Amino acid sequence: MPTVIRNLIGGEWRESAATSRLPVLNPATAELIGEVPLSTAVEVNAAVQAAAAAFPDWRRTPVTERVQFLFKLKDRLETHFEELARLVTLECGKTLAESCGEWRRAIENVEMAAGAPALLQGEFSEDIAKGVDEFVLRQPLGVCACICPFNFPGMIPFWFMPYAIACGNTYVVKPSERVPLSMQRVAELTEQIGLPKGVFNVVNGGREAVEALLDHPLVRAVSFVGSTATARAVYARAAANGKRAQCQGGAKNPVIVLPDADIESAARIVTDSAFGCAGQRCLAASLVVTVGEARESFGAAIRDAAHHRIVGNGLDEKVEMGPVISPESKSRIENLVAKAITEGARPLVDGRGAKIPGFERGNFIRPTVLDQLDGGGEVARTEIFGPVLGLIQARNVDEAIEFVNRGVYGNMACIFTSSGASARKFRQEVEVGNVGVNIGVAAPMAPFPFSGARESFFGDLHGQGRHAIEFFTQTKVVVERWPKEWTRKF
Ligand code: NAD
Repeated sequence: MPTVIRNLIGGEWRESAATSRLPVLNPATAELIGEVPLSTAVEVNAAVQAAAAAFPDWRRTPVTERVQFLFKLKDRLETHFEELARLVTLECGKTLAESCGEWRRAIENVEMAAGAPALLQGEFSEDIAKGVDEFVLRQPLGVCACICPFNFPGMIPFWFMPYAIACGNTYVVKPSERVPLSMQRVAELTEQIGLPKGVFNVVNGGREAVEALLDHPLVRAVSFVGSTATARAVYARAAANGKRAQCQGGAKNPVIVLPDADIESAARIVTDSAFGCAGQRCLAASLVVTVGEARESFGAAIRDAAHHRIVGNGLDEKVEMGPVISPESKSRIENLVAKAITEGARPLVDGRGAKIPGFERGNFIRPTVLDQLDGGGEVARTEIFGPVLGLIQARNVDEAIEFVNRGVYGNMACIFTSSGASARKFRQEVEVGNVGVNIGVAAPMAPFPFSGARESFFGDLHGQGRHAIEFFTQTKVVVERWPKEWTRKF
């Protein structure tokens, strides 16, 4: 029986009154595993009102008590770790090992946010002027919300939610309508930790629910992760409505391979980056710029690695790459590969038309490597979000860096080299938010901001770490004088 997804509003599970529902399909088997309602503005309003009602008590709960709920949440997530990983694989398609990695990152953010008693401490200057003290308080904003993409159903809400709650805000999560099961389970687990009703709410839906959150006067801050077009629109609408917003968008991540790199290990690491999560990672390597003689050896190594990657159902432990999210996604990716070939690319490995025995209805594409991709062509500029890697050649490191900076996105760029000087030049000059040096997926750990720049990020403060603490608090500066002569004598 498919799970009928419900909303968690004010501590109660409510079946949505929405008339529209979407099927949730296992991408490996096309089996119906859930039905998600496209909740309406009325239901979003109910969740926001519940969160607003919970706010006054929650913000006055001492931070040392608030974080106790995070310790309990960590315990629940650890206890249900395998079940949660399986759920991500079922609804999103990635391998079990990748799903475990995703939950590990989610839990690291709970651990980081549990440091809120120290992270929230203000600043104090005694005698900043004669007899005057001045200090900064960090106070919560009120109701905050996040709007999530399909590719990390478990991890991405945790870039924001634990910090928001630890800071004293109340929260509404709107999961991706394509993968609502993981957050449904997390919401069930939050019930077990005794979080006061209304502190954490989940509303399922699509565009209407998002717009209702963006227009709701009681929502003070919005965190968004998804495609660039939506990120830009969400940022504009949130800002027009006077809200704080941090909106993470799409990506096209280039990797430079210099001839002085260890080519074998670079190819192995780039293979994991390009084809891990079937290329549906915002930090997936999607273009490799080889410099000079790196081209031949890297091309040969990546062709072999791509060719040998085991594709199949993510629940099978031997499998190294699962399906893409939907049949529409599969045909969009295959069409882009065809377009690249008409633009002059030469397929070293062509993964189109993949058939996995026993999983004929799954959305599988095998790893694809396109050599001699036209660096100025449409495919080199478009986010493919699938297991497709384009190879481009540059004469030197300057030309390669120039290529990176000509792209419109700025999520991640990496370099493989044994030269400290080249690596230093690269990290100084590339205009991206996350930089990898001999790393294929430069995913910041929880204490660091998950950065992003240019078309990959709209806003200033990012998710995770101290950035999240700043995003979810407003500062209040107090200037204080207590003249001795005003003090009543007892
Ligand atoms: P998407 O933009 O289609 O959807 C993201 C969210 O926005 C969903 O919750 C969806 O319901 C909502 N939405 C979709 N269209 C909307 C509209 N017109 N108005 C209002 N809300 C709308 O993204 P997706 O396909 O779920 O996720 C993949 C994208 O996310 C890729 O582009 C990927 O690069 C990006 N991503 C970025 C990061 C990052 O950190 N920069 C991380 C993960 C994913």
